Amino acid sequence: MSSWQSISTIAAKVNAGQAKATELVEQALAAIAKHEEFKAIIVTLDAAARERAVKIDARVATGEQVGRLAGVPFIAKDNFLVFGAETTAASNILRGFNAPYQSTAIEKLEAEGAICVAKANLDAFAHGSSTENSDFFTTLNPRDKTRVPGGSSGGSAASVVLELVPFALGTDTGGSIRLPASFTGCVGYKPTYGLVSRSGVVAMGSSLDCVGPLANSVEDTALVLEIMAGKDSRDSTTIERDPKGYDLENIDISGKKVGIITEYMGEGLDPKVAERIRAAIESLRQAGAELEEVSLPSLPLGLAVYYVLTPAEVSSNLSRYDGQRYGHNTPGATDLHDSYTKTRELGFGAEAKRRIMIGTYVLSSGYYDAYYKKAQTVRTKVINEFEAAFKSYDFLLGPTAPMPAFKIGANTDDPLQMYLSDIMTVSANLAGIPAISLPCGEVDGLPVGLQLFAAQKKDRQLLNFAAKTEELLHG
Ligand code: GLN
Repeated sequence: MSSWQSISTIAAKVNAGQAKATELVEQALAAIAKHEEFKAIIVTLDAAARERAVKIDARVATGEQVGRLAGVPFIAKDNFLVFGAETTAASNILRGFNAPYQSTAIEKLEAEGAICVAKANLDAFAHGSSTENSDFFTTLNPRDKTRVPGGSSGGSAASVVLELVPFALGTDTGGSIRLPASFTGCVGYKPTYGLVSRSGVVAMGSSLDCVGPLANSVEDTALVLEIMAGKDSRDSTTIERDPKGYDLENIDISGKKVGIITEYMGEGLDPKVAERIRAAIESLRQAGAELEEVSLPSLPLGLAVYYVLTPAEVSSNLSRYDGQRYGHNTPGATDLHDSYTKTRELGFGAEAKRRIMIGTYVLSSGYYDAYYKKAQTVRTKVINEFEAAFKSYDFLLGPTAPMPAFKIGANTDDPLQMYLSDIMTVSANLAGIPAISLPCGEVDGLPVGLQLFAAQKKDRQLLNFAAKTEELLHG
């Protein structure tokens, strides 16, 4: 039994004066303090959160309806700009950087009465799959403290599973919402590219970055998306909302056509994870959905494509951190160039440096055609194969990750092995399609994630289908 009711219930109670925002904030802050050992949180926003809560309660006292998230506490990954707190992206180079404006996602949630109580840990600049690349500390998996919570939104996922708050925000460039959701046992949603504004979110790979919720149910996930989705004049890549919105509708899943992605069910998949996924497939079949295997032959190339294109975009996005404008500046430089060098040398961790080097390499004139251009060509193939598949299927399905959460330290000396955790998540980002990870049983006491995909802009349909699937899997 969760210590939080559904988000809509909490907000309804606050609006009716049956619950107080101030008490909900205290509940969240107390839970954060109680579970400090998991190191999910970089900083709490006690004063700002309490102040907002007092104002919300005062508005309710005058009879005002505050909004659909009235008094609901949440936690944002520390790559979202939030007023009243440093935004570090878990990198030393951003230490001391205070947000000069607030991210659109946070603005929209606050406008409906939600209250940001803390900033969550992540792999620095969201580069990673375990939070071990955080320059500050590693978050522990709430289900097994010796294991990683997944990454890069590991702090956000742990916050949800530890029930510090009813929902948290993450970012997903190649799986960073879905992988930690799978490793810790919560719901993680990556929307269609452009559905949620990236304004005020520290950029990683701008053609891939998505903002999305992590929560304990599809219902809560859909509500948070409903609030955040839509066009934003501060992010020109944003798209129109679905005119019907994202609130859940009761749909009939019988007759829905679902393709099981062959490439995700074969070699490299832990047989016990495969067993859980096959059990979910069986439940869907019994409920009347039509499932069959479908091959998308370019998907195994997705990981290589991603690890060429993402570093290219990362190297460009990280060029702005030179010590002159944001956060850390290493003192004692002899001239400007020396200041850049010293600041970046000390400020960036090993993974950021690795990606900057790979990125500048694949973009350099001698190698551009061989790597960057070729990767873009294969990205188009991936997009086309998804598009073709969605002509025959409403949804696609597979595991979120090839294995359950691994041990802390198991992959830290082997970046390639770490990158392999993303093999089933990166292609959705390459294609810009929505994807969700749902808890799907356990293997040796560790959670397993089922991943569902839909065509671009079919977020509403995907969430409705996911809610039905969740019901089948968990009753
Ligand atoms: N794990 C992937 C990476 O290291 C994805 C990160 C993300 O989605 N932010 O790039």
